[in-house]
Amino acid sequence: MPRAAKIPIRKNPILRTRQPTLPPASRSRVALGLTAAAARGRFELQVCRDCGAVQYPPREVCRDCLSHRLAWRQQDGRGELVTETTLRSAQELYFRERLPWRVGIVRLNAGVNVIAHLHERVGTAPCRVRVEVALDRAGQAALIAVPEQGRPHLSDDPRLREMTCDPRGRKILVTDGKSVVGQAIVRALAAAGAEVIWIGEAEPWKKVAGLEALRELPPATVVPLDVTDGKSVRELAGEIGAKVDILINTADHHSAFSIASRRGVETAQSEMDVNYLGLLRLAQEFAPLLKARAADEPANAIAWVNLLSIFALANYPPHGTYSASKAAAYSLSQALRAELRPAGVCVINLFPGPVDDEWDQLEMPPKLSPVSLASAVAEALKGSVEDVYPGDVAQDWLARHLDNPKALERELEEGAR
Ligand SMILES: [Zn+2]
Repeated sequence: MPRAAKIPIRKNPILRTRQPTLPPASRSRVALGLTAAAARGRFELQVCRDCGAVQYPPREVCRDCLSHRLAWRQQDGRGELVTETTLRSAQELYFRERLPWRVGIVRLNAGVNVIAHLHERVGTAPCRVRVEVALDRAGQAALIAVPEQGRPHLSDDPRLREMTCDPRGRKILVTDGKSVVGQAIVRALAAAGAEVIWIGEAEPWKKVAGLEALRELPPATVVPLDVTDGKSVRELAGEIGAKVDILINTADHHSAFSIASRRGVETAQSEMDVNYLGLLRLAQEFAPLLKARAADEPANAIAWVNLLSIFALANYPPHGTYSASKAAAYSLSQALRAELRPAGVCVINLFPGPVDDEWDQLEMPPKLSPVSLASAVAEALKGSVEDVYPGDVAQDWLARHLDNPKALERELEEGAR
């Protein structure tokens, strides 16, 4: 059994406050390929299409044959830690605050040497390890060596825990607790050890099943929150905004609505009001508060999670206006990510396919269960990713999108007829 991470103690206001610093963030354009894969939780290196040589560090041409035909391919990361050192001084302010720091050189089975941060459970060199990739606080790929056997969590190591957004011991706002997905997420966070969960409830006079039962969970408190009402968002931010470590936006308005199926724009307006403007209202009120508390480690603001949709990547015509509102929210989330990054607060986006809820009743299976979606949220926080595509439909859709976005658009057109 992995040792559970300790619950972070609250900040002592008398002690010195650590100023926000980030690990060095500049990378060459080609090295961003490593980060792009890490954002999806994959360790990829370039492989030469002509001679098969694996490349590290990322480069423009093959180290063996000078071919420029290099393709990013997933790696299993297995290898041997050949040598290691413990840094006791550092030029970088970020690492200076965190010394001593263990790093080592790993000879991957794939034939290249990489420099990696060492998990505290890695024994002394030489020993077998597995290299994983994580996003550091600057949002860039960092290589971490963990023991080859077992699957230790990054959050088991106090120094590497910063690369995760582990919900254990955290204070979390879930913006809509009336949906089945929102409720499943609250349960998953409670099971993951959240200290406090505020559950947003819009229109409290409309009773829904399930919310009453959530009030029984020890960390849960139901609070009034209507993301379509600027005043409601502002009031809640004033009340709890300075305590929220993780904000999870589950507010979602969804109608199966193709362009020609209904007259007028009222339904589309409601979708935009919740899915896009709702995110904007939350971001305007809560993002500055999260930023201000990002360096109050270990009880700091760490993450913002958006529940988007795979329909944000390419429009699904039977849900045409909903897709458009999610595309708008996706675009806005990128701006939010850019604004929160300098403080070290992660923005995590989830792109599920059709969910087995009220709105996707007419969609053909397979559909993602709310419980699976909720566990994907908890896993995303415990890991180190920023884009999550939970379920087979989302994975398939993503693969087709990455392969050929125009082909996917045409296939969706066909499917809509
Ligand atoms: Zn080559």
